[in-house]
Amino acid sequence: MGLEIDKLYGDSTLAVHGGEAHQKAQNSITDPVVMASTYTFNDTQAVIDYIEQKQSRGEYGRYGNPNEAVVEKKLAKLEGGEDAIVYASGMAAIVGVVMSKLSAGDEVVFFDECYHRSREFCAKHMSRFGVITRQVEACNYEAMEAAINENTKLLVSESPTNPHLSIVDLERFAAIGKRHNVETLIDATLATPHNCRPLEFGVDYVLHSATKYLSGHNDLLAGVIIGDTDKLEDIRYLRGILGSINSAHNCYLLQRGLKTFDVRMERHNQNGQAIAEFLEAHPRVEKVYYPGLESHQYHDVAKAQMNGFGSLITFELRDADWRATADVVDRCRIPKIGPSLGGVESLIEQPMVMSYYELPAEERASYGIRDNMIRMAVGIENTQDLIDDLKQALEGTA
Ligand SMILES: *Cc1c(COP(=O)(O)O)cnc(C)c1O
Repeated sequence: MGLEIDKLYGDSTLAVHGGEAHQKAQNSITDPVVMASTYTFNDTQAVIDYIEQKQSRGEYGRYGNPNEAVVEKKLAKLEGGEDAIVYASGMAAIVGVVMSKLSAGDEVVFFDECYHRSREFCAKHMSRFGVITRQVEACNYEAMEAAINENTKLLVSESPTNPHLSIVDLERFAAIGKRHNVETLIDATLATPHNCRPLEFGVDYVLHSATKYLSGHNDLLAGVIIGDTDKLEDIRYLRGILGSINSAHNCYLLQRGLKTFDVRMERHNQNGQAIAEFLEAHPRVEKVYYPGLESHQYHDVAKAQMNGFGSLITFELRDADWRATADVVDRCRIPKIGPSLGGVESLIEQPMVMSYYELPAEERASYGIRDNMIRMAVGIENTQDLIDDLKQALEGTA
């Protein structure tokens, strides 16, 4: 029998049991990994029944697999949405939505702090198919509204943004879309459904790079889009053509990572807040970007719509050139140097070097990327160990 695990249950129960059958194949407690590229039919009538949709079952691996179906249900429940579509990566999810929703002549408006590859895909590639991309300053709602015209089909933002951790007022963002009959999409990778659920504020689509907190172990790439079943139907259909599905094995790993999602996020939030407070009080640190700090530009919005502030922290050193900043990064012992975020292992990087090294200094500055800036993706290690490590790195006492 077993109960349908749904919204009535707490987040950690949903994370462990949501979307899963109570009794599984082989009486196994875990879902078996189904390594199959195709699914067979007993006879011709079974094929016809399937085509006439009398049967729900697998057909060919590009259209779906059982492990993906389970993890999609779990993600939809965690986000409070009707349906979810899992992709090979976060970028594949963005490409999947944009390609299915926008046609030649249509326009999309972005807040300019969105993930640079998403903006690049629209501005440099969708433009080849006649789609126009407009970018306005992050959190400038008047500018966003002014950029809308009768061809606008989609409004896109991240919240929080990376690396400045700006927080979009989701109710306001969704209301602009509704007022103009334009759909809205939030990339909530940095928030996760533990900290914020944009659908509750009226946003149409929530997107995650599940590579980050959702899988949580820096061992796979995945993306997901969540929303109403009817709105996702054409997006799912197109994924079957694009072939950007994830593998059964990765979907299993994502499902496994999600079992501990709720407890991991509690530690990520706790570490993030403690380290942000430590950094803000340190004499070598000039500025900290973390929405959980009262000094943060969007702290009030964050407090009103989030349950926690995550573990991505950006900070700038006082009187430090790029080399002195790199020295602090190089002295860290626990966080490893690398891009990405949301995994159990802490990562640290200097955005000027890691992501913007090849750009001219003026262009970097126009994106708000300063030479003295460090971005830390705090993991779930012991809080005091991380603080002690940052202290010795900042003070050069090792
Ligand atoms: C990493 C990231 C992406 C891209 O996801 P991939 O899984 O790397 O393709 C998109 N948006 C945000 C906010 C991200 O952090």
